[in-house]
Amino acid sequence: MRGITVIGSSFGAVSAVRELRRRDPAIPISVVAPRAELVYQASLIWVPVGLRRGDDLRLPLTPFYDRLGVRFIAGRARGLDAAGRRIHLEDGTSLENDGLIIATGSRFIKTLPGIEHAMTLCEGVEAATAIQRRLQGLQGGTIAIGFAGNPAEPTVVRGGPMFELLLGIETWLRRTHRRDRFRLVLFSPSARPGERLGARAVDGLLDQMRRRGIEAHLGHKLLKFEADAVHTEGGVVPADAILFMPGLTGPAWVQGSGLPLSPGGFVRADAYLRVPGLEQVYVVGDAGSYPGPDWMPKQAHMADRQGKVAAVNLLDALLGRTPTRVARPELMCIIDSLDSGTLVYRSERHGLVLRSAMLHWAKGWFERRYAAALR
Ligand SMILES: Cc1cc2nc3c(=O)[nH]c(=O)nc-3n(C[C@H](O)[C@H](O)[C@H](O)COP(=O)(O)OP(=O)(O)OC[C@H]3O[C@@H](n4cnc5c(N)ncnc54)[C@H](O)[C@@H]3O)c2cc1C
Repeated sequence: MRGITVIGSSFGAVSAVRELRRRDPAIPISVVAPRAELVYQASLIWVPVGLRRGDDLRLPLTPFYDRLGVRFIAGRARGLDAAGRRIHLEDGTSLENDGLIIATGSRFIKTLPGIEHAMTLCEGVEAATAIQRRLQGLQGGTIAIGFAGNPAEPTVVRGGPMFELLLGIETWLRRTHRRDRFRLVLFSPSARPGERLGARAVDGLLDQMRRRGIEAHLGHKLLKFEADAVHTEGGVVPADAILFMPGLTGPAWVQGSGLPLSPGGFVRADAYLRVPGLEQVYVVGDAGSYPGPDWMPKQAHMADRQGKVAAVNLLDALLGRTPTRVARPELMCIIDSLDSGTLVYRSERHGLVLRSAMLHWAKGWFERRYAAALR
């Protein structure tokens, strides 16, 4: 038996692997990814303000894979053939499988002219560390923080971390007695950024910004960046540092792979996370485009839920049973501001927005709990 291959080694993959092994102690499982580590991205927001060191967020996965008897293959997928049964890697080798779970995340659309002048926290540990150095070198001026979506798939926007970065930097400047030397500006082409979090959450965040003296330049299409300015159809925001999260699109390797793609470039999935037209091929996490509400989260929390569901459905399919599990959409995050936090929860039936200073500590506790489970 060739077993199951998971491509990717982050939230969606880890959850799928854990569930596969829990349900089947014997099935061969292989994971293909560049590194056997997971970057705990939710805490990247704390690197620029010195609350975490970048390397603290790299969680080694070798002990986890060894404990679960998983074969880790260091490499990068570059394509598929044999209807998903064979994966081609960038080094020219290939791998065969009986079942496949794609969990390779998303990437940024970096087409805006002058994008090299913007720093993107979400690119990982190096980017977060570079932002920290940049902020610490500034004696004063304007910090412009923004995000955009994917025009071909407007529901795919990740604004939460940029709100956290903005609020966290504001708190950090106050705590270090430098707030009066800085102007903070949020920019976005959306007039109500973060709408996927729900109307109450957006109202609360915009209200927090007003009370903290953070300016907003919203609802104007972005035109270009220069080293010292953000240009939009609604005017120019002069900036000494530009921190920007571009829109998301699907992973590069799936383009031209023959996998069915959504308008925004993500791998299409049905409600059971199967890739239409291919047997025993599933997609989870940020890499996929799923049926669901227009606030369908692209979050670690959702990737985790989808990983479990894909594992169960794939094992059922390999036994000749019809997959029945569905990953119900659930948005859950804590939007941190260093001095407090806002819990945002959204499901098809319920919604909750809750603000408390305790939630800042709860966010750190979630990180420690997640890391401990991988040791
Ligand atoms: C700053 C920040 C803050 C966030 N905060 C939160 C939060 O508070 N709560 C929350 O739930 N979510 C949060 N998120 C979102 C969350 O981190 C992502 O939704 C989550 O990481 C998606 O997981 P994934 O497994 O789908 O993909 P990723 O985490 O993107 O991982 C992709 C994996 O695939 C591998 N890979 C990529 N290409 C290839 C290839 N060609 N071949 C093989 N392997 C490949 C990568 O190396 C990696 O292992 C945040 C994200 C950021 C950036």
